[in-house]
Amino acid sequence: MNEMQLKFLARSENEVFARNAVAAFALSLNPTLAQLSDVKTAVSEAVTNSIVHGYADGEGWIRIACKTDENFLHIEISDSGRGIGNLEEALTPFFTTLPDEERSGMGFTIMQTFMTSFSVQSAPGVGTTVKMSKDFGAKAEADAM
Ligand code: ATP
Ligand code: MG
Repeated sequence: MNEMQLKFLARSENEVFARNAVAAFALSLNPTLAQLSDVKTAVSEAVTNSIVHGYADGEGWIRIACKTDENFLHIEISDSGRGIGNLEEALTPFFTTLPDEERSGMGFTIMQTFMTSFSVQSAPGVGTTVKMSKDFGAKAEADAM
């Protein structure tokens, strides 16, 4: 069992910091490169969402809380931004509210695919929290060789 928390400004240059900080924290779980890459991608998508959607109109804080438990890494990424009105719609593959900015609407789908578990809570005007976990014990066959 180990824990860490981060709080940083919602600026695009902090996205690289955030994904690498979480990956560095996960190293104690002996991840494969593929697993680490999955986690970095998922963190990157969630943090990017907070920056471009949550705080579209300004700046604010993003918080990340991580815990390890046995082979699991649990990650919570939250913002106090605009929030999501229709969550079901937002979770639909290819749905985006920013089609003009070359968003493909695949961020949530990528998080769901790359992580062992995924959920999101959001309220308009309050903010958004993404919770996701990765089971580092579940090594893909090709990875474990
Ligand atoms: P892509 O991730 O492919 O660049 P996208 O960000 O639009 O495109 P998703 O990440 O799947 O796609 O998010 C779907 C929609 O959910 C977004 O278009 C946005 O409307 C909403 N959304 C996601 N995260 C947040 C957030 N943190 N705050 C407010 N709205 C969000
Ligand atoms: Mg996105």
